[in-house]
Order: sequence, then structure tokens, then C-alpha cells
Amino acid sequence: MNQAVLALWLQTQLTSLLTQRGHAWLLAGPSGLGQFELAFALAKAWLCDNPTPQGACGVCGSCHAVDVHTHADLAVLMPELMSLELGWPLDEKTQDELDSKKRKPSKEIKVDAAREVVSFTQFTRSRGTTKVVLVFPAERMNGITANTLLKTLEEPPGAVKFILATEAAHQLLPTIRSRCLGHTMVWPGFDEALGWLQTASPHGQGSEKIPTKTPSPADLNTLLIAAGGRPADALAWVQSGHATAIAQSWKALPKAMAKGDVTALSDLLPSQAVDALQKLCHDVWAVRVGASPRFFCLADLPAAPGMSGTFGLAAWARELSSTARTVEHPYNPGLMLESLTSRAKIALSSK
Ligand SMILES: [Zn+2]
Repeated sequence: MNQAVLALWLQTQLTSLLTQRGHAWLLAGPSGLGQFELAFALAKAWLCDNPTPQGACGVCGSCHAVDVHTHADLAVLMPELMSLELGWPLDEKTQDELDSKKRKPSKEIKVDAAREVVSFTQFTRSRGTTKVVLVFPAERMNGITANTLLKTLEEPPGAVKFILATEAAHQLLPTIRSRCLGHTMVWPGFDEALGWLQTASPHGQGSEKIPTKTPSPADLNTLLIAAGGRPADALAWVQSGHATAIAQSWKALPKAMAKGDVTALSDLLPSQAVDALQKLCHDVWAVRVGASPRFFCLADLPAAPGMSGTFGLAAWARELSSTARTVEHPYNPGLMLESLTSRAKIALSSK
């Protein structure tokens, strides 16, 4: 969602945040609502030479430096793996270690990086009057990393401002949360999110030889429903380049599970499979009690289980949430998908 024009629901939040004082903000909400994009826009506005009430001007030297990730007064603290994916520079020592394959990039925010940020707030000479530290996803700081940052967060030197963005605020140290002003991310309406997704999706940018596959409106609709209405999550699927295939697999998933067809899960990581099955379980249950499904179209769901099947669904839901807590490191992913599938078949076919 890294584009020049902010989505409307994010722009509204940015305008409101800019009217408020505060040197440390915590942007919190579930994944896919655009925390990073909002944090980035706020950082850019704070650093801009000619900001407006709507945010950064987008054309000054400062805005340009932020856009190309070289602004001397902006420190972005994120896991190394994410820095590499999003094109944010790493410090020289880290880059050397990764280049020489001494170790793999970290999925956590490392304490060394937090120490660098503390020294950035103390020593780096400011280009303008403000320095900004952006931390995302803040829940990827372990206790030591968070404590390293804590004192600076409490009493920032000079004109240092902090933006922490998180998709799991409950995992943050209470001391970190209490030192920030909280902002709860706003959910966009479904139609607004769908309109934005259409604008943000690729439109014929490919060459003649390799035409870009523009996902159909129906595919985008399926993906947004599958993402539970979280537009940035849906966009991540679009940006994978396989939007149509993912949408079709999603539509076929419920009936494939009812038949015990494990190939329907074969492209997913175990954690993604569990997430998909939790959504399926939710929807089958919803239909069973006369409510609307939330993640799948009604027509794609198998017939709801009978009365005794309700008990089966409850047990299945409990098992899935217990599996979700331990799914990061399955001993055998292939075996796990098979076991998830056979369990789903039993729950979906009980009479
Ligand atoms: Zn500017």
C-alpha cells in the first residue's frame, strides 16, 4: 500500500492525528488495516518542509528523501527480513553479515537495532527541527529490545517523535503502551475498501510479451471477503501476482474440505491453512444458526451439518484454536495438512 495517494480511510485518520499533540503514538489494530502506511505518512508529514493540514507536501527535499528511504532524521526500526523486503537500508555491519551469509535475516526487531536508534536520537545531526523513529511491527520487539527503547520513549531528547505501529498491541510491554498515545485503526467500509483495492491493483502495467493479469472485480471481491474486509491483507494477495488463482482456490476450499481433498490446502503454509479452516468453521457455524457467512460466499459453502453436527463444529473450533497457538513449528507440515483435512471432513459431514 506504498503509494503516493493515501486511501481515504487512512487520509481521514492522518488529518485527525496531525491536529493532535503528542511525541509518541501507538497505531494499533488487526493486520491489514494499513498501520504501516499511516505511520509512514505521519512520519513524512512531521518531517516535511511545507506540511499542510492533510499531511506532507510530497515535493520538497525532505519528502523526496523519505520516499527514497534516505532521510537522515528518520529511523525505521523493523525486523531485518522486513527491511530487506520493503527496501529499507540496514546498518553496514548487519548488511555485511547478511551478504556473507553468516546468518539469516532476523524476523524479530533486534536489540542492536534498538541501540542504534537510541544513539540516533542522541547524536545524529538533525536536517530540520524534528527527528522521527518509526517502529513496525512493534510487537516484534522482545522484552530486552523494548526495554532498550523505553527510556528514550519516556524522555525523548530534543524534538524526537515516535510512531509505533502494531498488529498485536496485547503483545507489547504494558510500559511501552503506557508511554504512547493510543490510536485505534479505523476499519474502512466494504465498498470503500473494494474501490481502493481496484485502484491499487495492477492495470495493464506488463509488457506485451508478459501481460499483467488484472484481477477481475469478482476476484477482488472474493479476496476482500477472504481477508475479513482488511484491504491491505487482500492487496498482499493481489501483489503476489496470483490473485485469480488464490480467489478460485478460496471459492473451492469449503467443498474440497467436505470431500477430504488435501490438495486444496497444498499451496498454504500450515499457519495459513489453520487460519482458512477457522474462517470456514466460523462460516459453517454462522449458516447453521441462520446468520450470514463472513469469509466465504454462501453458494461456495457445503450444506450445513445437521443438529448433531453442531457439537462436532464446536469441538472442531476448539481444536483449531488450540492448533493455531502451536502451528508456527509443525514437526511435519505435509502430515499436518493431511490431518487438518481429515478433521475438517469429519466436522463438515456429520449429520
Ligand atoms: Zn514535503
